[in-house]
Amino acid sequence: MNRCPITFLVLALLAAAAQAADRDTIYQTAPIDALLVGVYDGDYAVGDLKQHGDMGVGTLNALDGELVCVDGRMFQVRVDGKVYPVPDSALTPFAVMTWLDRDIVLKAVSATSLDEFCRIMDRSLPSANLFFAFRADGEFDYVRTRSVSKQQKPYRPLVEVAKEQAVFEFKHVKGTLVGFRCPAFVKGINVPGYHLHFLTEDRQGGGHVLDLRVTGLDVALDPSDSIYLALPRQGDFNSADLSGDRQQELRRVESAPK
Ligand code: ZN
Repeated sequence: MNRCPITFLVLALLAAAAQAADRDTIYQTAPIDALLVGVYDGDYAVGDLKQHGDMGVGTLNALDGELVCVDGRMFQVRVDGKVYPVPDSALTPFAVMTWLDRDIVLKAVSATSLDEFCRIMDRSLPSANLFFAFRADGEFDYVRTRSVSKQQKPYRPLVEVAKEQAVFEFKHVKGTLVGFRCPAFVKGINVPGYHLHFLTEDRQGGGHVLDLRVTGLDVALDPSDSIYLALPRQGDFNSADLSGDRQQELRRVESAPK
């Protein structure tokens, strides 16, 4: 079928409008509660995630490490602390993506802990009830991260697996922090509050952030007013019991080991 130039123009305009709307959407695969109960089989190709953002966080099939997306490139921080490129064909059971726009830039943020960093961010947000994507590039005084090991079936709940997490420390390191702040009402679907991942500038280290210390770091924020949840269509997700409240488990999984 031959299409006239006007048809192409209309299609291009529609595509541009759709992409503009998509830029302020958080796109995620599976609810976080599915990961908490041990639905670790990937159902979604990492290559397809790239259609929904150029930054993001998540994990990989069988909980094989931490997924970090920076500038549209996918990195896997495995439990050995090394960083591997992720092929488009790799599968993920849980990932959160968006297109990062630097709508708000907080200048020269200094914090002696992740808690303080989050409190400073909280005070700067135009609303606690929107979603925010974060990105910061620069020198970090200190970052503590973790990764988790690839699991074998039968899968144990994440709170059990996280007890065996590997912890990595970086001092006076250049790198990139990416992640999200979700509103309190997102319980069960995503992580209420902050979920941040880190990559060193040389892309040789990183992981899920447990703690950090920064001096004079510029932090870019991107408010998002919509979220798209793609549910797995097969596997353990179909029969998982997701009826309970798992907020306490989530806090234990997300926070630093005591
Ligand atoms: Zn994480």
